[in-house]
Amino acid sequence: MRYGQIRKYDIANGPGIRTSVFVTGCPLKCPGCFNKEYQDELNGKEWTKEQEDLVIKYLKIEHVSGLSILGGEPLVQDENLLNLLKRAKKEVDKDIWLWTGFCYEQLNKKQLEVLKYVDVLVDGPFIQEKKDLNLKYCGSTNQRVIDLNKHSLRRRFDET
Ligand code: SF4
Repeated sequence: MRYGQIRKYDIANGPGIRTSVFVTGCPLKCPGCFNKEYQDELNGKEWTKEQEDLVIKYLKIEHVSGLSILGGEPLVQDENLLNLLKRAKKEVDKDIWLWTGFCYEQLNKKQLEVLKYVDVLVDGPFIQEKKDLNLKYCGSTNQRVIDLNKHSLRRRFDET
């Protein structure tokens, strides 16, 4: 996995004060992408155990309310992302939000495995014609904020 930045305190991506990780590399190339520089994975730095430890340390800060994973595209990353999410859930247990350009219904088993550790998924590609600056956590109206702990989609996956 490669990453563009880690924000210790982020108030722009999800509720409350959050630690956020921006991964790099995205195959979707949406026109008007708000993080174009992160489409190319080579623009990022190599993710190591050092970054994983740092994120866990930030998450342990009392007023940090959760972890946000953005990109780039989180759901084309290697197992380092899964390891980070597993560790965050086990050691900190604060809520985890993840933004993907894929729609939930398109995801494969490996990607759904990652979502086992995610509480809220913001899904769907950015569509310029549907851009809406009033949306709180999305860029365009086709995107959805899905509470995976309540959503019937995940219940269906968990039963398989
Ligand atoms: S999915 Fe996100 S990061 Fe990828 S091109 Fe679309 S807006 Fe950009």
